[in-house]
Amino acid sequence: MPPSPKDSLQELRIISAQLGRNPELVQGAGGNTSIKSDGLLWIKGSGRWLADAEKADCFVPLELQPLLEAVQNGHEDPASFALCRELCPPGLRPSVETSLHAVMPQACVLHVHSVSAIAWGVHPQGRVLLSERLKGLPWHWIPYVRPGLPLTAEVSRALERAPADVLVLANHGLVVAGESPREALELLREVESRINIAPRPFPVADIERLKRLTEGRPYRLPQDPRCHAPALDPESLRLVSGGTLYPDHLVFLGPGVRLLPDTPLDVEERAPLLLVPGRGMLLHESLSPTAEAMALCLALVGQRLHMGVVPCYLEQEAEWALLNWDAEAYRKSLNS
Ligand SMILES: [Zn+2]
Repeated sequence: MPPSPKDSLQELRIISAQLGRNPELVQGAGGNTSIKSDGLLWIKGSGRWLADAEKADCFVPLELQPLLEAVQNGHEDPASFALCRELCPPGLRPSVETSLHAVMPQACVLHVHSVSAIAWGVHPQGRVLLSERLKGLPWHWIPYVRPGLPLTAEVSRALERAPADVLVLANHGLVVAGESPREALELLREVESRINIAPRPFPVADIERLKRLTEGRPYRLPQDPRCHAPALDPESLRLVSGGTLYPDHLVFLGPGVRLLPDTPLDVEERAPLLLVPGRGMLLHESLSPTAEAMALCLALVGQRLHMGVVPCYLEQEAEWALLNWDAEAYRKSLNS
C-alpha cells in the first residue's frame, strides 16, 4: 500500500530535521525540502529552519498543477499564486526555491547547501572533476544563476535534455530527488559520500587576543570554534577573502569578508564578520542566528576549497541582482 499523504509529510519532517541539524548540509534557514502528494506540493516555508521541521509548522501547501502552469506561463510569483490558503499555517510563505521543487518530477526533493558540493561548485573544473565521482548517477551540473525563477528555468532546460535525480548547483549547493523522503535521503548519502572533501586541519585560535580586541566594542566570538579556521589557515584566508562564493553568504553577511589587522577595533567598524589573520573570527553582536550559521558555513567551505586554485566567485552583477531581490530581502527580514 502506498504511504498516505500524512505519512509522507511526517517522514519528510523527520528527515528534514535530521538534515537541518547538520551544518555541513544545512545552515540556519538555508536549504529546503518538499513532498508532492495528493495534488499538493508541501514545501518548507521561507525563513524557517529545517532543524525545526519536527517541532513547528514549517511546511506550506501549494496546488501542484496551478503552480506548474504558473511557472510555465512565466508568472512572476507562481508560489503565492498557487498557495492552498485553507491548509496553510498562518504567517508562512513558501520558500523562494518553490518553483525548482515543482519542476522536478520526483515526489520528494531535498535541497541542501552541502559544504562539499559548494566547494566543488566553485571549482573552475568542478564539472569535469565531478563527472568521475558521480559516474553512473543521473546528474546535471547547473551553472550559476540567481535562485528563484532564473534557476528554475536553467534546471527545466537541463531536465528537458535528460532526466536527473541529482543536480549540482554551481556556487550554491545540491539537489537530490526520489520517490519518497527515505529514497531521496539514501541518494543524498550516496552523493555526499562520493563528493566528500576532508577539511584541512587548522591551528588553534588566539582566544585571549580576540577577546582583548573586542573590549568595549560591539563584537563577540563565534560559538563554534570551527568558525576561526579561515583566519588561521593562510590558504583558506586567500580563498574565502577573494570575493563572494555563494548567495547565502552575500544575503546574510554582505559581499566578501572583511580582513582586520591585529589592532584594536575601530568604534565605527560595522562589518558583520571580521577575520583577524592568525587570530580568528569575530562577529558583530547584532548578528542573527542564521547569519552566524552562515559564518560557520564559510569556514566549513573554506577548509574544503581546493588549494592553489582560483575559485569562481560571484560576479558583481550577480551580487547586485541578489541584493536587489525582494524574496531574499524578505527572508533576511525574518531573521534580523
Ligand atoms: Zn539554495
